[in-house]
Amino acid sequence: MSASGGEFEVVIGLEVHAHLRTKSKLFSPAPILYGAEPNHSVHPVCLALPGVLPVLNEHAVELAIRAALAMNCEVHQRSIFARKNYFYPDLPKGYQISQYEEPLATGGWVDIPTQGAGGAASKKRVRLTRIHMEEDAGKSIHDDAIAGADATLVDLNRAGVPLIEIVSEPDIRSAEEATDYLRAIRSILRFTDVSDADMEKGHLRCDVNVSLRPHGSDEYGTRTELKNLNSFRFIEDAVRAEIERQSETLRAGGAVRQCTLAYDPQSGRTSVLRIKEDADDYRYFPDPDLIPMLLAPEQIERVRSEVPELAEQRAERFQHEWGLSEQDAIQLTASPAIANFFQAAADRHGAPQTVANWILRDVMQALKELEMALDDSPFSPEALAQLISMVDEGKTTVKSARGLIAELVESGGDPESLIAERGLAAVSDAGVLERAVAEVLAENPENVELFHSGEKKVVNFLMGQVMRKTQGKADPAAVREILARELGK
Ligand code: ADP
Ligand code: MG
Repeated sequence: MSASGGEFEVVIGLEVHAHLRTKSKLFSPAPILYGAEPNHSVHPVCLALPGVLPVLNEHAVELAIRAALAMNCEVHQRSIFARKNYFYPDLPKGYQISQYEEPLATGGWVDIPTQGAGGAASKKRVRLTRIHMEEDAGKSIHDDAIAGADATLVDLNRAGVPLIEIVSEPDIRSAEEATDYLRAIRSILRFTDVSDADMEKGHLRCDVNVSLRPHGSDEYGTRTELKNLNSFRFIEDAVRAEIERQSETLRAGGAVRQCTLAYDPQSGRTSVLRIKEDADDYRYFPDPDLIPMLLAPEQIERVRSEVPELAEQRAERFQHEWGLSEQDAIQLTASPAIANFFQAAADRHGAPQTVANWILRDVMQALKELEMALDDSPFSPEALAQLISMVDEGKTTVKSARGLIAELVESGGDPESLIAERGLAAVSDAGVLERAVAEVLAENPENVELFHSGEKKVVNFLMGQVMRKTQGKADPAAVREILARELGK
C-alpha cells in the first residue's frame, strides 16, 4: 500500500473536533470531569429534562475565539447556534446544538512542514473553511464485558462538553500530510491553552474525507468519510487502506460511492457505516432557545492581543535569542510543557545551550524510560538549573548528576540535599586528589614513560584511572590540573 495514490491524485479534507478546556459544559453548569463515574456529571440541561433552557458558557466562547484567531480565521461578530437533528440514544434532546449557517469563524489556515525541492524544509499552507462551536454527545457503551451481551449502556458525562469543529479545505494530498496537519492543530490548541488535545482521552477526534482524481484534473472525485479516528497511527493506516480501496474500484472501471466508513484497526480494513450523508439529512434550523451570539469588535481584539506565543514563534525565538539549532529548538517546543520547562531552566541557569543538552539528552530519556509526561513530573526547572550549576562549579560530577535525573523526574526533590545525602559531592580536596594522582602515576610507570616520549593522549587514560579510584567523584578540572603539574615535573 502506498501513501500517495499512484496513478491518482489523493485529495483529503479533515473535520477536527477538539474539546475546549472549560470547567463546565457549553450550556449547563455540570462540571467536566474526565474519568468520573458514568452519569455523575450531568444536569437537567444535559439530560434534556422538560422546562430547562441552555445558558451559554462565556469562557468556552473565549477559547473558541482564541483558537480561531491563532489559526488565522476571521471571527464574525454575529453567529448563530442551530439545532442539528438526529436520533441517537446518547443524544437525549434529539438534536445537537451546533452552528451551521453563520459559524463563529471562517477562512484561516494552518501551515504544515513539507519537504521542498531537494529535500529542503519548507511549509505548506492548508486552508480552513470554518471553525464553529458545538456541544459533544454522550457515549454509548457497546462493550459486552461492561454492558452485557447485546446490550448498550449510555453515559451522558460527555453530553454537552464544549467543542470546536475545525473544517479544512480539501488541500491535503497524502496520509502523512493528514497527520502532520493534525499535529499542527494539536500544537496550536495546546500552546494557546484552548484544549489538552489528547487523542487518547478523546479531546481530539477527526473525520477524514478522502477522494481520488486523475493527476492534472481540476475536478474533485467522489469522497468517502472515515469517522472518528482516534490515533495518528489509525489515521495513516485508515487513509492508506481507503486510498487503496478507491484505487482498485477506479482501476476496475467502477465508481466510488459517497459513504461514511469505519476503520477496523484489527483487520486494517474499512467498512461502510452509512451510504451518503448530507447536511440536508439533519434539517438544521436556528435554535429558538438561543439568541444570535453577538461579539463586540473590542472583545475580539482583546482576545487577539492575548493569544499566546505558538510553538513556531517560540522555536524561532530560541534560535535567534539563544543561538539554538533549528533541530534543538523544534524538539524543545514539542509541547508547551517542554518549552516552558526549558525556558524557565535556561532563564535561571543562564546558559541555554547547556540546559538544552541536559533536557534533550537526560530528561527526555528519563521520561521515556519512566513512560511519563513532563506535565506529570514533579521535577522543577529550578531544580534542573541548580543541578547543572553544581556541575559547572565542580561541586558534583557530570556522572553523578546524570545518575540523579531519573529520580528527580520521577519523584522530584532538591538536588543539593540529594547530592549531600548520597555522598555524590565532588572530591576537590587537594590532599585527597594529590594522593590519588600519585598512586595512579606509581601504578602506571609505562604510561608516564609514554607521556614523556610524546604520547600526550595518555593523560586521558590516567585521568580515567584517577576517576576510577575516586568512584567517579573527583572534580575533573582539579584532577587535570594536578596531573599536568605532576607530569610536568
Ligand atoms: P459534511 O459536513 O457534509 O461532511 P462538507 O462539505 O462541509 O461536508 O465537507 C467536509 C469535509 O470534506 C471538508 O473538510 C472538505 O474539505 C472535505 N471534502 C469535500 N469534498 C471533498 C472531496 N471531493 N475529497 C476530499 N475531501 C473533500
Ligand atoms: Mg462530515
